[in-house]
Amino acid sequence: MRAELVAVGTELLLGQIVDTHSAFLSRELSGLGIGVYYHTSVGDNWNRLKGVVEQAASRSDLVIFTGGLGPTEDDLTKEVVAKVLGLQLVEHPPSKVALETLFGERGLSVPLSNYKQALVFPDGRVFANPNGTAPGVAVTYGRTTFVLLPGPPTELYPMFENEVRPFLEEIRPDGVLVSHVLRFYGIGESHLTERLGDLIQKQTNPTIAPLAKEGEVTLRLTAKAEREAEARSLINPVKEQILRTVGRFLYGENEETLERAVVQELTRQRKTLALAESCTGGLLAHMLTSVPGASKVFQGGVVSYTADAKKLMAGVPADFLEKKGAVSMDAALSMAEGTRGRLGADFALSVTGVAGPAPSEGKPVGLVYVGLAARGEPPRAHRLDLGGSRQKIQIRAAKHALFTLLE
Ligand code: ATP
Ligand code: MG
Repeated sequence: MRAELVAVGTELLLGQIVDTHSAFLSRELSGLGIGVYYHTSVGDNWNRLKGVVEQAASRSDLVIFTGGLGPTEDDLTKEVVAKVLGLQLVEHPPSKVALETLFGERGLSVPLSNYKQALVFPDGRVFANPNGTAPGVAVTYGRTTFVLLPGPPTELYPMFENEVRPFLEEIRPDGVLVSHVLRFYGIGESHLTERLGDLIQKQTNPTIAPLAKEGEVTLRLTAKAEREAEARSLINPVKEQILRTVGRFLYGENEETLERAVVQELTRQRKTLALAESCTGGLLAHMLTSVPGASKVFQGGVVSYTADAKKLMAGVPADFLEKKGAVSMDAALSMAEGTRGRLGADFALSVTGVAGPAPSEGKPVGLVYVGLAARGEPPRAHRLDLGGSRQKIQIRAAKHALFTLLE
């Protein structure tokens, strides 16, 4: 189990206080046999805290935050974690009663801003705070458990001893955790999870955690068992069940990348590939040549960026370009077929589109055509309507093109 600690508070960064909480927690965790891999200090800043939460989620099984559970605007920890995990905080009635009692004893009503301290994660754990207004909260999402504790030492120390330590003893693995990642392309995260119905919610061992990045969606299946073989035998039937529904969008597993999958598939088929790239500017060629062994299958390609280059290098007839424009289905078909023929490759992919930021030829940003020519078959092309920045459009277009080859 990999743990990391995040101390939240601008005071830490200003050197006004020293992060003694992380030292304390590290000692306690190591006593529990839980390895701590990172300490991070971050200010009360939404974006930077969000970055820290995302990074922690990607590399750790347990993340313990201290601070930022107070009632004010700059107390953000719970809100940011909820946002990153896509969870809606819910009211926890006993914590609300505790707030009302605490203020009531002093003859006060609860200030409106304090009510957010009674919000907790759905299906999470709540650690009572008899010494202050913010309960501690914990939630497990995918393979990562997030624990959020209040900053004031008079609250943190007793809460750790009475509530958090028993919780950690409970979640501390005594067997092994095994993860298996399924990688999908050509389907959005919401469609994928919709198709899987309530499987994701219902599955507990393995758990299934979806993650979307740059047009790709991954599902991480994590099983807990005494031994690795046993964990794998828990994962396999669930994996099969997932693939029966969305298997046609799977391109790889674990550390696989789309470009590696393409090189492998072409190698297996003993086929060669050529490229004619316009709006991706050589990105596809770069992606393919980053894969060791690409020289067996990747012949080369042209970056035919202007209309002249499309004519001269990819063999697109001039009248095509005049009539239909460089961003058109016909241009994509012709670029693919022309380049395939010139290089004598088995396949050629072409990409032409508008990466932005401004429209071109009166065509909207994000309009991209991907062509595929295969020896002995008429070339085909399809249209994409992509979103995002210039760079995102280029990456998505390149990935779409690679995926076309795998389909
Ligand atoms: P509050 O309700 O007081 O706002 P909080 O949960 O938001 O609670 P912070 O505001 O981050 O916590 O911290 C409250 C106080 O706790 C700080 O002023 C500091 O004295 C102490 N503290 C917070 N974090 C640490 C730390 N990492 N190491 C040592 N002391 C800390
Ligand atoms: Mg605070």
